[in-house]
Amino acid sequence: MKYSILLLSLLACQLAPSPQAAVANSQAPAAIVSADSIVPPQYDAQKRLVKMTKPASEWKRLLNEQEFYVLREEGTERAFSGDLWKNHAQGTYTCRGCGLPLFSSDTKFESGTGWPSFWKPLKPEYVTENKDNGYGMVRVEVECARCGGHLGHVFDDGPRPTGLRYCMNSVSMDFVAQ
Ligand SMILES: [Zn+2]
Repeated sequence: MKYSILLLSLLACQLAPSPQAAVANSQAPAAIVSADSIVPPQYDAQKRLVKMTKPASEWKRLLNEQEFYVLREEGTERAFSGDLWKNHAQGTYTCRGCGLPLFSSDTKFESGTGWPSFWKPLKPEYVTENKDNGYGMVRVEVECARCGGHLGHVFDDGPRPTGLRYCMNSVSMDFVAQ
């Protein structure tokens, strides 16, 4: 009995996250979700993307604190803190809120900003762009066109062929490997 308690406490020590493990986790390769997490768009009779709305209380239940802060309160994750900025695998980036496919790895580029950056969305109608005058800057905010989740901002200093830089938050997206 004594021995099994000792064994359990040893196991518990191994399982308890150490500060070093936490750092290692934050630099781990992107969390890969399965292809079932892609929820394709639906269109109404006028060929408009069908939107999804949920009360804040429901989003709070579905998202963790950081996801809620970025997606629903237009927050920004710290640069270099997310798990997707240095993901170089081939695949599709989807909305963490609703599973809409948003960006292809084919249009991802190394921006050096510490946020995953793309030069165009998969389809223009998958994102909504709004002028944002917050923090004394005029920027263009990018939202998921289906659930309205905040993804990031788009700037006009990107690479060719579009010259655009969609500067996204890792926490707003999932990644489905090809
Ligand atoms: Zn969405």
